[in-house]
Amino acid sequence: MTSTSIVSLSGGVGGAKLSLGLLRVLPPDSLTVIVNTADDFTHLGLRIAPDIDTTVYTLANLVNPLTGWGRRDETWTFMAATAALGGETWFRLGDGDLAMHVERTRRLASGEPLSRITADIAQRLKIPANIIPMTDDVVATLVGTASGELAFQDYFVRQQCAPCVTALRFNGAESARAVPQAIAALQNPALAAVVICPSNPYLSIDPILAIPALKASLRHCRAPVVAVSPLIGGKAVKGPTAKIMAELDLSVSALEIARHYAGVIDGLVVDVGDRHLAEQFELPVLLTETLMTSLADRERLALEVLRFAGTLTKAGQQAEGR
Ligand code: GDP
Repeated sequence: MTSTSIVSLSGGVGGAKLSLGLLRVLPPDSLTVIVNTADDFTHLGLRIAPDIDTTVYTLANLVNPLTGWGRRDETWTFMAATAALGGETWFRLGDGDLAMHVERTRRLASGEPLSRITADIAQRLKIPANIIPMTDDVVATLVGTASGELAFQDYFVRQQCAPCVTALRFNGAESARAVPQAIAALQNPALAAVVICPSNPYLSIDPILAIPALKASLRHCRAPVVAVSPLIGGKAVKGPTAKIMAELDLSVSALEIARHYAGVIDGLVVDVGDRHLAEQFELPVLLTETLMTSLADRERLALEVLRFAGTLTKAGQQAEGR
């Protein structure tokens, strides 16, 4: 165990950006990223784990900088050939990316857990961090709409988040077991902070919190838990976060993000674009620029989040005299 240890909770693109910043400002092997797997699905016979892959590619410096997901310098021969045969092309799989899915599917079929496969791949790609799926069990996000429930990737990719969301549920989460290494990271006496990345709270972070053992470990961990709001000036940087909040009749505001994480977080990082709300928060807030465009932005935000976490008292610790 290293002297300081940090855990981040992350979905895909937004989360991986901050996890990369954390990785770069921390000593090697002090970061553990617990990643959402409720977006995972089986497609063309392959097991695909989009948030794991985005995290791996980002932390290995292999990610496509234009999209924030997939591999840089990707080629698309497989997709073109699939289209020519009349196959399914709504979910884009690049040639290099395909190797990840084929290899993962092969190893899962031989009985290896996703966590071991992911750790091994991260090691082969020389990532000096632990990347841990939230569970080795199957959990699947189901998106409620007026015309019935949709599988997550049907909603997110095939229908481009167009349907109005009426409810979300994470099938299998209640009985899902957390990966033991994730629990160990949250119970590590050297844990200095837990960072909830600015991922979509409803689609990316809630599935992680829906796993009972992870939620309990987070509640009981000794380190402060800090979330970074995914909203800037009341708008999402990308993706359906704001649209889903409006559809669920929630106010599209960093105040609502604070309400959503109440009982889990000890502090919230809010963009300066939402500074007019500053007086209304009922927990400690750090106001700063949270848009991560450059690598320097990611590193600066990571440092500020860690510094902020260092100023926080874990809720309940004073009362317990710890
Ligand atoms: P996905 O699974 O690829 O959709 O990605 P995530 O769930 O990890 O992240 C999506 C969320 O990240 C959206 O709500 C965005 O508003 C947020 N996001 C993306 N980039 C940034 C950024 O630079 N700063 C902040 N504050 N939020 C961001």
